[in-house]
Amino acid sequence: MPSPTSTTLVWLRKDLRLGDNRALTAAIQSAQPVIAAYIREPQDADTGPLGAAQGWWLHHSLKSLANDLEKLGSRLILRSGPAADVLDTLIKETGANTVHWNRRYDPAGMAIDTQIKTRLRQAGLTAHSHSGFLLHEPSQVKTGTGGSYRVYTPFWRAIERAGDPPPPLAAPDTIKTPEIWPDSEPLESWNLLPTKPNWAKTFAEIWSPGENGAQQRLQHFIKHGLKGYRRQRDFPAADSTSQLSAHLALGEISPAQIWHGTIDLPDAIESEDIVHFRKELVWRDFSYHLLFHFPALRSENWNAKFDSFPWVKNQTRLQAWQQGRTGYPIVDAGMRQLWQHGTMHNRVRMIAASFLIKDLMIDWREGEAWFRDTLLDADPASNAASWQWVAGSGADASPFFRIFNPITQGEKFDPDGAYIRQFVPELAKLPNSLIHRPFEAPAPILAKAGIVLGSTYPEPIVDHKHAREEALAAYKALSVDD
Ligand code: FAD
Repeated sequence: MPSPTSTTLVWLRKDLRLGDNRALTAAIQSAQPVIAAYIREPQDADTGPLGAAQGWWLHHSLKSLANDLEKLGSRLILRSGPAADVLDTLIKETGANTVHWNRRYDPAGMAIDTQIKTRLRQAGLTAHSHSGFLLHEPSQVKTGTGGSYRVYTPFWRAIERAGDPPPPLAAPDTIKTPEIWPDSEPLESWNLLPTKPNWAKTFAEIWSPGENGAQQRLQHFIKHGLKGYRRQRDFPAADSTSQLSAHLALGEISPAQIWHGTIDLPDAIESEDIVHFRKELVWRDFSYHLLFHFPALRSENWNAKFDSFPWVKNQTRLQAWQQGRTGYPIVDAGMRQLWQHGTMHNRVRMIAASFLIKDLMIDWREGEAWFRDTLLDADPASNAASWQWVAGSGADASPFFRIFNPITQGEKFDPDGAYIRQFVPELAKLPNSLIHRPFEAPAPILAKAGIVLGSTYPEPIVDHKHAREEALAAYKALSVDD
């Protein structure tokens, strides 16, 4: 039955928070009853299917948001279907005359939103979109000549010049409720959690999806991780990064909240640490800037000269990489961290990605797809931009000929092997000098450490030196300009 009074709808998407949520705040300011809805839209090739790991996060995030809304006497309405149809139905059911949402910047999502906004306005409704997913709107960060940025450093300078983003809005303490609530689908019916097998068992021990969890992470990082961030952030065993990316991916915290959280900190935290941390946060905006101006970022080489690169199709090697069984400990530790914890340290992401692309010569899109499915922070812009960065095919990318050596990278960034020992326990008893190169260990040392190469731990699936030469030769044949 339609509600007798008009209501305002807030269509929540990747903004699963109450604080600094401009769409929600605007809806509340309308002084009408507010209905918050989350729509599970059909997944298609363009939006990129929701990865299985992120599905787990989404389930818990929606549950947490629903609880937070219930504490205010409100609710979260869940519906599934094409957004335009679901909104039409909700509008009919609730008598809503206004719809608010926060903008998204993936190409398919933007196209849907533009159509919906036009249709709603044509039908005489008020439709408003707001900012909040990024520090700055990608369309508004422009070069001196009005174009888009292709290189990160000038982009960062432009962001610096723009000054602090607007201060975050407080979370509401009241929300006017409708007399009659529309039905909501049960979250459980969406089957976002894995069952048989439940590969997400360890996730809950590590992560706390939801706005409270995000705020706690931020506070923990400011207290314990930010000091020394610039130097420590490259060491995977150090636990010195913020671990905020999965919270950011679904908008449980806004980048403006994070940015403002790093203002007016005690002097003990050096400004170089703060600036470096902000620079990382701005890589996220830069990735969206690239996606905004090059919508095919996920599927096409940004640098078209890579289109003729002779990628190798090798399912056995791809699976060895996915399962963390390449015989290179730092790569395997990273891939197993990904599987067990739904994340991978940034330095190791770069090493593992380089290994797939350059040692195995497997198309970066295979890696992008695997990360999308297994990363809790899977993000259409950051993932695609980072994969293209490592491949050398992206904007401002690392040149292809800079090929990570998985042994020396491991020795440099995990010098005492603590990260390897955590995720590749079968190598735990090797001395530090050999833990990154078990294939060079003399037989008695292997025996003492309980390792049988090729049985308890794989032999290297390729010889790095040889693979490197092959990759460079293939690259040279392309004669790609950097
Ligand atoms: P911190 O070091 O604490 O950084 C703070 C925030 O800055 C992060 O939460 C993140 O939002 C942002 N950030 C940091 N580095 C980058 C970067 N290189 N690019 C874009 N944003 C960055 N990040 C994702 O959020 N989603 C992805 O799907 C993703 N895929 C990646 C794939 C590859 C091959 C590589 C090399 C990197 C990828 N990254 C991705 C970037 C980066 O690895 C993660 O953002 C970072 O490891 C998250 O950990 P953190 O929150 O502790 O980071």
